[in-house]
Amino acid sequence: MATPIQENLVGSNNAYATNFTQGDLALPPAKKYAVVTCMDARIDPAAAFGINLGDAHVIRNAGAVASDALRSLVISQQLLGTTEILLVKHTGCGMLTFEETDAANMVRQNLGDEGIKAIADGFAGKFLPFPDVEAAVKSDVEWLKQNKAIPEGTKISGWVYEVETGKVKSVQ
Ligand SMILES: [Zn+2]
Repeated sequence: MATPIQENLVGSNNAYATNFTQGDLALPPAKKYAVVTCMDARIDPAAAFGINLGDAHVIRNAGAVASDALRSLVISQQLLGTTEILLVKHTGCGMLTFEETDAANMVRQNLGDEGIKAIADGFAGKFLPFPDVEAAVKSDVEWLKQNKAIPEGTKISGWVYEVETGKVKSVQ
């Protein structure tokens, strides 16, 4: 039996597909850029950042962590031709609310030793929280600029999106 979430998917998609007219877009992003942003449910990248369908890659993870996005960024650049990166973290991020040991303890408590082993295998057990959004934007931008998997000359900028106002501001 379908869950309410699944029913929402099917119902909303039926309406969307009925009016869909953009089935002929090219695979590579037309505007040749990638956005790294957080998975936070309060961020609508397309609307808030002016991204039309087919324009850009949007790579999302917990905290808009650059190292977590690296695999997708390399694919975006090397295989699909993007040449600019916008890194957008945000106010009120969940990644500001815990430390490594808190997350590891939750996993141990809820999932046991097998859970601990699985996160070690999956992502070295590193949740990568940060205590300061602007500082984290700066260090992630710097990390990308220094990274040899990102070509020199890539335009990389850092931003903070305010979930309270909908405004984005430049950090670096
Ligand atoms: Zn976040």
